[in-house]
Parts: sequence; structure tokens; C-alpha cells
Amino acid sequence: MAQIDDLPPLRDVIAAHGLNAKKSLGQNFLLDLNLTSRIARSAGSLEDCTVLEVGPGPGGLTRALLAAGAKRVIAIEKDSRCLPALAEISAHYPGRLEVIEGDALEIDPVALTGRDKVRIAANLPYNVGTQLLINWITTPQWPPFWSSLTLMFQKEVGERISASPASKAYGRLAVLAGWRCKGGILFDISPKAFTPPPKVTSAVVHLTPNLSPLPCDLKALEKITAAAFGQRRKMLRASLRSLTPDAEDLVTKAGLKPTARAEEIDIAGFVELANTFRAAQAV
Ligand code: SAM
Repeated sequence: MAQIDDLPPLRDVIAAHGLNAKKSLGQNFLLDLNLTSRIARSAGSLEDCTVLEVGPGPGGLTRALLAAGAKRVIAIEKDSRCLPALAEISAHYPGRLEVIEGDALEIDPVALTGRDKVRIAANLPYNVGTQLLINWITTPQWPPFWSSLTLMFQKEVGERISASPASKAYGRLAVLAGWRCKGGILFDISPKAFTPPPKVTSAVVHLTPNLSPLPCDLKALEKITAAAFGQRRKMLRASLRSLTPDAEDLVTKAGLKPTARAEEIDIAGFVELANTFRAAQAV
């Protein structure tokens, strides 16, 4: 196994600090330094940026990011038991690792990272991973505060992010991510690589902002996709009735068939629907 620094092996760190994994915090630790280094490399050049990491745990990926040359890592960890282990990493890389104890869902990442170029890299806890991704891809300001996301999810979530129309995985996440981002799954990671092993395969996803997404009002797109995929088996003229009594008219005006179902509509179609909806609201 790769030796990336002179800190103790992660297994010893976990034992020394009594970090028995908690299911409630989505703790599946990645101890293979070849894999953590591969994820860090996938994030791109780190020398000139601040890396925001959510859930460093005992610090496997954190160490890989620092060893890969990250200028600065800011890591948000909810589990206070991990802080002493992370303090050892901080001491090893003076001035380059800042650990914030807290819930990443409640911390404003923009205020935390300042003006530097920001890359986000994380092995996300499964219970909050999707919500964090949605928060990052639906920031009101676009281009966003981050220049790349390199994230590990359950593979099923990775597939939902990069799904194409007419597939089972295609839904709201694919529309929002596909509208605003480029990229997708880079590689899979077997459950065996984790301690304890999760039940399912994981996937590393890499996304960068689409700097010229089709012009569209974010709130309208969120409403339209929520209504359309909330009842994905229904035809649009029925599923969008929760938003407007003139659903059939709305769909027709957007140039789509009122009998189509959400999963048949591509991203450009949803953008058209959202813009038509927004224009009708403004009248
Ligand atoms: N990065 C480590 C690794 O790759 O081995 C740990 C990854 S583990 C899947 C997820 C980590 O996120 C855990 O350390 C857990 O305590 C932390 N966590 C869970 N919920 C969190 C939240 N809401 N905010 C910040 N950290 C959280």
C-alpha cells in the first residue's frame, strides 16, 4: 500500500482514538491510501486552491489531499471524536488544515472559504450527501463559489446525477446537475475498500460548473421538476396540475406533448417548461 506521509497508518489512528464507526453518521472509512490518493488526484490541481472537505473522519482523504499539494484544506466534521486525530494531521501540515466541528448542512461554505479558488472533495456521508450536492448546484449565484466537485456517493446516486432521459435513474437530480454542470462518474469503489464495508458499491463523481447553462430561472426549474418527477408515471398535463390549473396549456406552449411523461423530457425541454411557467406567473 502507498506511503503518502509519515503519519501512522489509518487503522492505528482509528484504534488509538476509539473511532468505532457510527451508522447514524454514515461512517464508512476509506483506509486504502491508493484509493484516497486517486480521489485526490481526480480533483485536479490543488496547489492554488482551498479544498473544502465534508466529513474527514479519521482523515484518510484529508491526508491524500494535503500530500497531493493542496494549498489549504478546510474540513467540516460533525463527529467530535475525530477532532484529536485531525489535529495530528494539522500539526503535520502546519497552517494548511483547518478543521471546523459542525454540521455541513448548516454551515455557509462561501463565508468559510473566502476568495480563493475552491474545490470540493469528499467521501460524503450517505444520509446527507444528496442534499449537500443539491445545495452546491443550486446556489443562486452562477458560476458558483466552487470550481469543481469530486465526491463519493453510493453508486446509485452517482447514476442519478448523470442519467439520460428515458432511463430509470433519470429525475430531478439529473436535470439540475445536467443543466448546471459537466461531468459524471469517474470510477467505482468496491464495498470491500471501506471499514466497515457498506452494502452497496460506491462511485466517485467529478463535476465542474457549466459556465453557460441554458438561461432559466432556478426556482421555476426546481418547481417544475419537483412537480413533474413527484408523479413521474403521470402525463405532464396531469402532474403539473399541482402548479397550475392550465397545465395542458403550459406544456403545449413550451412546445411539448401534454401526454409526455417527465422521464421523456430532456434538459432543454425542462428549461423551456420552466421559462414558460415563469413567464405565465409574471403576467
Ligand atoms: N472522509 C472519511 C473517509 O473517507 O474515510 C470519512 C467518510 S464517512 C463516509 C463520512 C464522514 O462524514 C464521517 O466522518 C461522519 O462523521 C461525517 N459526517 C456525517 N454527517 C455529517 C454532517 N452533517 N456534517 C459534517 N460531517 C458529517
